[in-house]
Amino acid sequence: MRIDIITVLPELLESPFNHSIVKRAKEKKLVEINIINLHDFANNKYKSVDDYAFGGGAGMVMMIEPVFKAIEKLKSEREYDEIIYTSPDGEKFNQKLANQLSLLKNIIILAGHYKGVDQRIRDYLITREISIGDYVLSGGELPAAAITDAIIRLIPGAMSDEQSALSDSFQDDLLAPPVYTRPADFNGWKVPEILLSGHTAKIENWRQEQSEERTNRFRPGLGDKDGEKG
Ligand code: SAM
Repeated sequence: MRIDIITVLPELLESPFNHSIVKRAKEKKLVEINIINLHDFANNKYKSVDDYAFGGGAGMVMMIEPVFKAIEKLKSEREYDEIIYTSPDGEKFNQKLANQLSLLKNIIILAGHYKGVDQRIRDYLITREISIGDYVLSGGELPAAAITDAIIRLIPGAMSDEQSALSDSFQDDLLAPPVYTRPADFNGWKVPEILLSGHTAKIENWRQEQSEERTNRFRPGLGDKDGEKG
């Protein structure tokens, strides 16, 4: 899989992909992540990619021309399955969407900035708009990193068996059960006996019950058609 992220702040994306599962997935050649500096596509000597909003008002707007040029260059090199714009008013990102995107071959993620992007970018160049939640961040870099991370851990081989993404929350519309490690007794705070029993079937049963109980308590309706679905 290949993920190209277009940004005005490439520095913000230096670290997120150089650790842990994402780093190992890159080393195993399961994914290639490219950070594209939008300023490289500016057509002025100041390399600026934003301008005042027509009609006035606070905040600068990302211009269409550099974004168009960046996307056209990428599209001339390969075909893309999705060209995503991160936006607070996009469809809400969740595990189901992460699963869908993890099956794609090539995607572009455009990280917005300032007041947002010229609407024509959204109307003519973007195939999908994704929000990571109902709050506003300063830029689309952190959303792009969150989306990319969530996708990559789902690519077969990215995680080892014991880390399997399949047992994480939301995969089956359930929250994950609690986990414990040594010591079994800390200051009198004990690990549930069942986990020390060595009885695999009973442990699995307990985990399933815990998942269901936590889902009912914290996220009732998870998995329903219009809830916050997995
Ligand atoms: N004026 C925009 C609005 O009210 O919807 C917000 C612009 S925000 C300051 C700048 C950029 O950050 C957006 O263009 C978008 O790319 C990104 N962004 C901010 N919050 C986001 C969120 N919750 N999900 C996805 N992207 C977000």
